[in-house]
Amino acid sequence: MVLAQLGGSLAGALARLSRATVVDDKAVAECLNEISRALLQADVRFETVRDVSSRIKAAANLSALAPGADKRRAVRNAVAGELCRMLDPGEPSFSPRKGQQHPSSVVMFVGLQGSGKTTTCAKYADHYRRKGFRPALVCADTFRAGAFDQLKQNASKAKIPFYGSYTESDPVKIAVEGVDTFRKEKCDLIVVDTSGRHKQEAALFEEMRQVSEATRPDLVVFVMDGSIGQAAFDQAQAFKQSVPVGAVIVTKMDGHARGGGALSAVAATKSPVIFIGTGEHIPDFEVFEVKSFVSRLLG
Ligand code: GDP
Repeated sequence: MVLAQLGGSLAGALARLSRATVVDDKAVAECLNEISRALLQADVRFETVRDVSSRIKAAANLSALAPGADKRRAVRNAVAGELCRMLDPGEPSFSPRKGQQHPSSVVMFVGLQGSGKTTTCAKYADHYRRKGFRPALVCADTFRAGAFDQLKQNASKAKIPFYGSYTESDPVKIAVEGVDTFRKEKCDLIVVDTSGRHKQEAALFEEMRQVSEATRPDLVVFVMDGSIGQAAFDQAQAFKQSVPVGAVIVTKMDGHARGGGALSAVAATKSPVIFIGTGEHIPDFEVFEVKSFVSRLLG
């Protein structure tokens, strides 16, 4: 995956610094330039790269180091720390709760058409099914013909109960009925799939807002195609302005995703990435763990 190129470039910049005979301001500046270039090439926004670069410089704070201190290590730690900071907005997102003593957790999925939202709903529900939850899926996507069949097919494959309608055209009505039905059945986790559109249209945002107000979800997950590059920041921000996005899932990380999209989505929504999609099938789904992602990236 192309993300490996970002890791390769960052690790390369740090390795070159490690091999430098003297680690002076010039060597560090060169290393930071190389890191900035790698982030820009990975589609991280210019403004974010500029901020990150100055924070790395401040965090490494070479002039304050004791003589003989390991400057190479100080720079590496500063880079790792800054990447973790970019990916961790500080607030953990809502985690669904299991067991009859809790009310059902309702999680609503939003995203553009084609982002992988419907597939991701099934992956998410299945992830919790494997952890012993009783999940259920609700198809409130009445815009795309075939969305209900697709969800039904995925749900049946994963043996997860589902709710939807071929004839009802009001997504709010379906969402409310579906959530009520599964609340009565005491499902632990109710996942609501909403409509997407090709573009960020007013109608999509209005519909999302109505479904969100009617179902009062515990968590709104924004699903984003990891390969959209520089468009990620604006897209994520537009969704966040309409509904209270609390977590991000980045899909298609098996393909041409360059990683920067994930970083931008976190910056725009101030919400953590919780999972990544790594293929078309239900098990192609990984928990996203910031520290291990960054250490894998830096090698
Ligand atoms: P929706 O319109 O947002 O609901 O998107 P879909 O769930 O229908 O997905 C659109 C396409 O992306 C389908 O062909 C999915 O199989 C594919 N897809 C979804 N997630 C991933 C992923 O993580 N990796 C890959 N390679 N394909 C994915």
